[in-house]
Amino acid sequence: MTNGITVFGECVWLSSGWMENVAIKIDPIGTITDIETNAKYESSLMARLPGPAIPGMPNLHSHAHQRAMSGLSEFRASGPGGEDSFWTWRDVMHRFAEVLTPEILEAVATQLYVEMVKAGYTAVGEFHYIHHGPNGVAYDDPSEMSMALIRAATWAGIGITLLPVLYENGGYAGKPANAGQRRFISTPDQLLDIINAVETIHKADPQVRVGFAPHSPRQVTPEGMKAVFDGVTAMSADAPIHIHVAEQEKDVTESVEFTGKRPVEWVLENFDVGTRWCLIHATHLIESEISALATSGAVAGLCPVTEANLGDGIFPLIPYLEQGGRIGIGSDSHNSVSIIEELRLLEYGQRLIKRRRNLAAPGPGGSTGVRLYADSLKGGAQACGRPIGEISKGKRADFVVLDSAHPNLIDRSKDNLIDSMIFSGNTPKFQEVWIGGKRQVANGRHVREQDTLDTYSNVIRGLDF
Ligand SMILES: [Zn+2]
Repeated sequence: MTNGITVFGECVWLSSGWMENVAIKIDPIGTITDIETNAKYESSLMARLPGPAIPGMPNLHSHAHQRAMSGLSEFRASGPGGEDSFWTWRDVMHRFAEVLTPEILEAVATQLYVEMVKAGYTAVGEFHYIHHGPNGVAYDDPSEMSMALIRAATWAGIGITLLPVLYENGGYAGKPANAGQRRFISTPDQLLDIINAVETIHKADPQVRVGFAPHSPRQVTPEGMKAVFDGVTAMSADAPIHIHVAEQEKDVTESVEFTGKRPVEWVLENFDVGTRWCLIHATHLIESEISALATSGAVAGLCPVTEANLGDGIFPLIPYLEQGGRIGIGSDSHNSVSIIEELRLLEYGQRLIKRRRNLAAPGPGGSTGVRLYADSLKGGAQACGRPIGEISKGKRADFVVLDSAHPNLIDRSKDNLIDSMIFSGNTPKFQEVWIGGKRQVANGRHVREQDTLDTYSNVIRGLDF
């Protein structure tokens, strides 16, 4: 592919809207260099897309290792009270994190990323906090676990924004870490070493970006957060910053108890939050926080399926969108790896509360599916800090080709196609997925699907936690 490639689509969703007979020219490193509409297909010069093409979706929030424990925390807790919650799920997750080696993490992440690509996700924001070995002993190479994730992404072909997590303590007021948290705990200097190592190796790789993630107001100190923020900014002035906030009601009550502020208030008051920032979940907001977050330029990173699975709550989507708020979606704990399910549940949560329909639609006659998909593309691209999220000149050549012979998509076009993709049926409707100008999914199958699954199966059978 020394001269790059040109692909031809009869119907393509460009940033200017749906266009016909589109030739997309892609350079050897996977960036779109030119787009021609009303072009003529030339079989000797172009690869033909077998259906309508839309931009690939960024998945802005992932904890890859949690893929291997999805479905294993659905028994009601035994013991006094028998109450199950986010916090009992977290105990299972901490126990599972204890058994991970770099090799296991790589196998699990590879399987996950292959599944993401098949599902139409073409980029991932990996919120990565298992930095050290068992019992919290640092690896000789501090970036060992981070590099395993980047190898997994490279194998699957997905673009990655690696977000090494600062996790300083077990809770507010310097609470000591429990046994399950020891592998996560880092000083600001240790974290900067990891970021620096990854940044140095992958600086020129258009498929890799490095950012920074203070875990949550609960797990960091303002001083630690500021030290890493300054160090990362010195390396890259626009590196993405992600933080968990206000996922559970307990996050809010603890924040008020220890800081006098609600978590989103605390972040907005202590940091210059703007377009580099992505606030993950931000589920529990009061009106003033909704307005402040919506007008800050930051993205709200929403993970509706995980938020439902963990009993978090429902994000106040409608007032937030009405005030210009930016959103993106993530599959977070990976109970589901489906753009369709995330977007559908995002809208359905609002419908169930308001007992009305089409709440995210931009106005009379507007499409709900197009609004949700387009906003999530834009916010996801911003949060990942990479030139993605639209099929246009200068962006990465990341797109998904729909199967127009799928029963749910027959005779659907343009906006109806997107609505039918999201709101009709459950089976995948993607025929091809292209990332950085390479076709990673053909006829609905990932090009490395079987090898990846074989390795993953062996690893899972050998796990004991
Ligand atoms: Zn998370």
